[in-house]
Order: sequence, then structure tokens, then C-alpha cells
Amino acid sequence: MLPEPSAALRLAVDTQALQANWTVLDRLSGGARAGAAVKANGYGLGAVMVADALQAAGCGAFFVAHWCEVGELLGHVPADAISVLHGPLTGADAAYARATGARPVINSLAQARRWLAAGGGRCDLMVDTGINRLGVPMADLGDAAIAALDIDILLSHLASADEDVPLNAVQLGRWNAARGQVRHARASLASSAGIVLGPEYHGDLTRPGLSLYGGVPRPELAGAIRQVARPQAAIMQARQVQAGDGIGYNQIFVAERAMRIGTIALGYADGYLRCWSGTGGVIADGQRLPVLGRVSMDMTVIDLSAAPDLREGDWVEIEYALPEAAARSGLSQYELLTVLGRRFGRWTG
Ligand SMILES: *Cc1c(COP(=O)(O)O)cnc(C)c1O
Repeated sequence: MLPEPSAALRLAVDTQALQANWTVLDRLSGGARAGAAVKANGYGLGAVMVADALQAAGCGAFFVAHWCEVGELLGHVPADAISVLHGPLTGADAAYARATGARPVINSLAQARRWLAAGGGRCDLMVDTGINRLGVPMADLGDAAIAALDIDILLSHLASADEDVPLNAVQLGRWNAARGQVRHARASLASSAGIVLGPEYHGDLTRPGLSLYGGVPRPELAGAIRQVARPQAAIMQARQVQAGDGIGYNQIFVAERAMRIGTIALGYADGYLRCWSGTGGVIADGQRLPVLGRVSMDMTVIDLSAAPDLREGDWVEIEYALPEAAARSGLSQYELLTVLGRRFGRWTG
């Protein structure tokens, strides 16, 4: 697919790597099938593009957070393959669920009653086993409103699956107890990190998000997961500076020698945050070209010394392998993906 003409900024989404990552996570899920978290615009990559690619790879369950994320997926994946994690917060949400066929995840007795009052139907149920964020408390599972639900997926969510802490086994035990207590069709606990905690965490369905998109939340997944998101920017201007010249806002970089620099069309408004000032880099002609000085709203300056053949109009690729980029920037791998802004032309590469 060709990119729309856009700003000199694009996000190449390697859909083959995305599909390969899903296939690996599906295999690591053992007897369970892997679904996919596609919330937050497919972790910033483009929800429709991601859902199309994952469905083609065999994925049959998609998780979003908000009801406003459902519309663009309808017509791409079956409505009843979409689960909405925030659940019906209002009667209008419940009516929308019934009209579209997307499934609400019920998170409280209030949501259960709201769903039943709207007419009910197939839903999912989130049980809070210790994250204390969203979900029906274990103590409420015996309520008549829960017994009245027609539950497809019984979910819970691990708080610290990326760490080896006793809470993982505690949550597993509570999730198993909930499975024994509540009638349901399928059970689901693990997201990306939880998948590698062991087969007892798999249930019937896993819900990876981050690792589909190239994230490595636990060392067990290193080597198995490929980079998917590749931000690229064009050089808008190349210029020569002399020793003593300062570059960009507040001149926090001052050239020690004459050097050739380039200005690329990428800035913090695009999600290339100021934490990359002086630490980021791009790759071109097989060379690493460091970011010089401060990242500004729409522009970043790079050192062209190691790539003398680069010209205005040439594209460079931003260093964005998630584990390394997270270590370098101080951002989480999740943030690195979801901050990427609207000015990127998103295309499949
Ligand atoms: C976001 C989310 C996921 C995906 O988690 P990752 O860590 O990105 O794999 C799974 N389940 C729920 C409930 C979520 O909110």
C-alpha cells in the first residue's frame, strides 16, 4: 500500500513482523488462542491496519478500551470479536453495544445491572484479582446480577506480570477460584508478559498487546519478538556549521568543529519527546547519526558527519527498537508506541 502524500514523516508498520509476533505469541499460549489488544489506535500504529493484519494471521479476539474505538473496526472484524474493556459506563454505552454487537466487559455490579436493564445479552466479565483498578471484586461474584449475565470471556488482569513477584501466583489462584464460581465460556488472564509465566496462566485466551508491536516486557520474549514500528523522517534541510556554532533552542549543543547537519521533520508534537534531546539517533546509510541539541515541536537536528552522501529529501529511520529505546529515553515501551502522533503517514512496510 502506498502512503498518502503527507508531511515528511511516516511510520512504517512491518505487518509481516506483526503477524509473525502474533503467531509466536499464539504458539507460546499453548492450548489457548492468542487474541490482541488493539486499544489506543493499535498502540499508536493504526487500529484498522493492525486488526486487518492480525485477522489475516488467524486472530479472532480484539480488545479496545473505549466505545469510540469500536466504529472503525466494524466491517473489518466481526462485531462479536470485539471486547470493550471499560464496559458500559452509561445507558448509551449499553445501547451502542446492543446495536453494534460489540461485547461489553462488565467491571462492576453497577455495570452488570446497567447491562441487564438495557436488555443484556452476551458480555465479558472482568474480575479484579488484585490490581485494584477496574473489575468486579471477588467478594461481589456471588451477586444475583452476576449470575444473570451471559458471560463469554471471564477475564482478570495481572498487575506485575513483568516481574517475578508472589502476587502473580496470588492472582492466578483468585482467577481460578472465579472460574469455579462464575459460569462462562472462555477464561483469560495473561497479556504479553503473562504468557511466558507458564501454562497455568493461559486459560482459553491470551490478550497480548505490547509484544505484538515489538515490545519485550520479559527477557523470555527477547529474540522471539520482532520490531514492527519504524518511524522515518525526511531531511528538510542540510547545512554546514562552524566550530562554535550553537544548534537549536537554547543552543544546548555547540559544535566543536566544522560539521554538516540535517534538520528532519520530526518533533515532540509527533511524540518524539524532549527526552530524546542529545540522546536520540537515526540510522541512514548503515550509520548511526546522533540527535544534536534540543528536540523542538516540529523539528530535530541530526549530525550528518558519518553520512556525507545524505541530501535534502533523503529519508532517515529513527532508532526505535523498543527495549533499547526505552532504556535510552526513560520512557516505557508502551509510551514509546502510543505517543506517536497524527502527523505520521502510517503505511504497511
Ligand atoms: C492493555 C491490556 C492488555 C494488553 O497488555 P500488554 O501488556 O500490552 O500485552 C491486556 N488486557 C487488558 C485488560 C489490558 O488493559
